[in-house]
Amino acid sequence: MSNTISISPIANPDAGAKPAAHQVLGACPHDCPDTCSLLTTVEGGVATRVQGNPEHPHTGGVLCNKVSRYTERTYHPERLLRPLKRSGPKGSGQFEPVSWESALADIAARLKAIAARDPEAILPYSYAGTMGYVQGESMAGRFFNRLGASLLERTICSSAGGEALVQTLGAKVGMRVEFFAESKLIIIWGSNSIGSNLHFWRYAQQAKRDGAKLICIDPRKSETAEKCHEHIALLPGTDAALALALMHELINHDWLDHDYIARHTLGWESPDGGLRERALQWSPERAAAVCGVPAEQIRSLARDYGECMLKQQPAAIRLNYGMQRVHGGGNAARAVACLPALTGAWRHRAGGVLLSSSGQFPVDKAALQKPELLGGRQPRTINMSTIGNALLEPASLRFGPQVEAVIVYNSNPVAVAPESGKVVQGFAREDLFTVVLEHFQTDTADYADYILPATTQLEHWDVHGSYGHTDALLNRPAIAPLGQAKPNTQIFRELAAHMGLAEPCFSDSDEQLCRAVFGDKVDFQQLLDKGFATLELPDAPFAEGNFPTASGRCEFFSARLAAEGADGLPGHVPNHEAAGTSDEFPLAMISPPARNFLNSSFVNVKSLRDIEAEPVLEIHADDAAARGITTGAVVKVFNQRGEYRAKAEVSARARPGVVNGLGIWWRKLGLDGTNVNELTSQHLTDMGRGPVFYDCLVQVQREAQAA
Ligand code: SF4
Repeated sequence: MSNTISISPIANPDAGAKPAAHQVLGACPHDCPDTCSLLTTVEGGVATRVQGNPEHPHTGGVLCNKVSRYTERTYHPERLLRPLKRSGPKGSGQFEPVSWESALADIAARLKAIAARDPEAILPYSYAGTMGYVQGESMAGRFFNRLGASLLERTICSSAGGEALVQTLGAKVGMRVEFFAESKLIIIWGSNSIGSNLHFWRYAQQAKRDGAKLICIDPRKSETAEKCHEHIALLPGTDAALALALMHELINHDWLDHDYIARHTLGWESPDGGLRERALQWSPERAAAVCGVPAEQIRSLARDYGECMLKQQPAAIRLNYGMQRVHGGGNAARAVACLPALTGAWRHRAGGVLLSSSGQFPVDKAALQKPELLGGRQPRTINMSTIGNALLEPASLRFGPQVEAVIVYNSNPVAVAPESGKVVQGFAREDLFTVVLEHFQTDTADYADYILPATTQLEHWDVHGSYGHTDALLNRPAIAPLGQAKPNTQIFRELAAHMGLAEPCFSDSDEQLCRAVFGDKVDFQQLLDKGFATLELPDAPFAEGNFPTASGRCEFFSARLAAEGADGLPGHVPNHEAAGTSDEFPLAMISPPARNFLNSSFVNVKSLRDIEAEPVLEIHADDAAARGITTGAVVKVFNQRGEYRAKAEVSARARPGVVNGLGIWWRKLGLDGTNVNELTSQHLTDMGRGPVFYDCLVQVQREAQAA
């Protein structure tokens, strides 16, 4: 299948020095809110440099350290360049090369046989290895819909916070990121922006230079927290208590926009008790005891937020997904999302909250995935966050058929899914047929029966939205596919053909898929010409209410949640494994990303891994001293689910009682063939059925031998 969009070389500033070079516009595919516009220099068919597009305002010509090394990743000596078939025991990582024809014919025959018994025994497993709509769930979605395979609940990152936004604001919507530059108070809540939202940080820096105060709320003293004026190091999973105490102070000092509350919110006061009454139960002292921070710090934060209202200055909250990876993550995100409506911060374009902008993109999912191919079937849904349990579950009336085949693309579940002991056990099943589409032989690929080589972003077409800004982007291929690698779309096209699926939609080209993403809602010619197109949106979307909820108001009270038997108001939901509740496992562990990795991507890029060196566990000096741990010592981190080893770093980045296990290392590149997810649980969040990576109690012990 050929692509018919032509690549137009764009002006090359170096044309005099390197006449053969041209530059190609693309988009960063990684799971990062910034969705940068890329400019790839190509010389003689080889990509020699990937840089930020200076014409794209959000990118501003700057990429993060990870993606500026994208050529190293693309031309990595261990890149998978031909199909591989397992030649040793499951998980041994032993493979032999095979032809595409032989691989696809065998995979098709195996899937056909399973589908003939019960297509729900086939499970797709994918996430945001690419955020592209086309190489993500377009042709793949069609393929699995046509088979009637199990559906996958894609929850592993953001579903609690996403559901919280939907229940509160009506959709995954918020402030436009560029206006943070004009804010006078910026609260960075649950985010290490310098590491994982760099281009937002540029706007925050601009605001700081213009006199804004920056406050970071995060259990970890991250690089971002260090550079803010103030850091509130609360215990993991206590964010809702903090938000409710802020409301308590706003009420007590009357730092409220009564007009905005009356006209544009729902559930502030009610005979059954509204949010006002709920918040009044959360004095700063009560919240301080739960959050593990001084009450005065909570009062001071409320004062900063409230005084912005009094002075009619814009106050903005950049919420990120770290804080919702706990039992009460949905309630916490809901509580924070209510704050701007209390002070009327939404009246300013530089005020409000931003967790995700992804709901603002007019994506035509049905055109991409063709749900009509299900033909009325309603397959069961399996939650990706509990893949360990799912793979070990026998057939039953409740569960349906045992999972017999998993097709993994854009994901590395053996490294990234929680409670990896069970995930490994599941993927190691001799009777499980596993196909992995990948760039590298990851921990998951080690357990495959077939590994199919996929193209990188430099080698295929795609269209992107963003969850951190409001520009759509087009990714053009800069170079031809390396070796025998193929785009995901093409692999699923050919697999469909081998299975005899004759529907015309399996012949759609990547150009047709790219054009189908937004239909006529985004000017495709502009995407071709400039590489990006800015959505037409109001500057201050909720200045006059108009929330995309059923009521049109910011819903403090959610009738839908109440109807489901949940709490209709946001509240503090303690962690499954709350700090201080276990003598055996007295430390709370969070596992934020190491700065030079992005989930489990880039761990095998040598220059980046050299910077990170080894898996690190940050531990506070008091907790380290109590265990005889010094910096550089190898420590065993363990709980009832398993253990892994890391190098201790006695550091002020960790608060007392909390350790930071930086992730996500590939298991086989770690110290003992495991990683931090050996300890995380398969418990779920209160909303969105998401994972609780940061809701995990552990103990830490110094190993006998220091390194
Ligand atoms: S990972 Fe994020 S910051 Fe880095 S290039 Fe991609 S979008 Fe930009």
